[in-house]
Amino acid sequence: MDGLRLVKEPLTLRAPCCRCQSAGCPWDRLAGQSICPDCQEALAQGEGEPFVVRTEKHRCAACHQQGTVRYLTYPLHATEPVEIDLCPHHFQTLLARRLDRHAYHQLSRQLKVLGFSTRQIFLLHEAFYDDHGHSLQPVPEL
Ligand SMILES: [Zn+2]
Ligand SMILES: [Zn+2]
Repeated sequence: MDGLRLVKEPLTLRAPCCRCQSAGCPWDRLAGQSICPDCQEALAQGEGEPFVVRTEKHRCAACHQQGTVRYLTYPLHATEPVEIDLCPHHFQTLLARRLDRHAYHQLSRQLKVLGFSTRQIFLLHEAFYDDHGHSLQPVPEL
């Protein structure tokens, strides 16, 4: 299985946020749990309940390390979500928008293969990285 793939599922599958229960949009799913952008932000800042999940025996889409967490997100204008397997390190750094350049390029390249641009993925948005993958808006260390 590829570390970054399209998921075939109907857009009607909309669970409320598992943390604040807000509903209405198809939220990203972290390890299968729907989490709204506000709660993801809180998580990235190290606020609120810690996010504890079991890793799966897949390889990280960024570094190929085994032992990953699923990150499912809806690219802008896309009808189907993209799911990315990430090791705990890259999962945290993607969430905090502090991906290293190598990881950023790995993910961008694989998104392009699927026909997406990085700017369609919120957490890889150009507001946070320049063309070379440098993080433009660092957030505090976790
Ligand atoms: Zn929430
Ligand atoms: Zn990794």
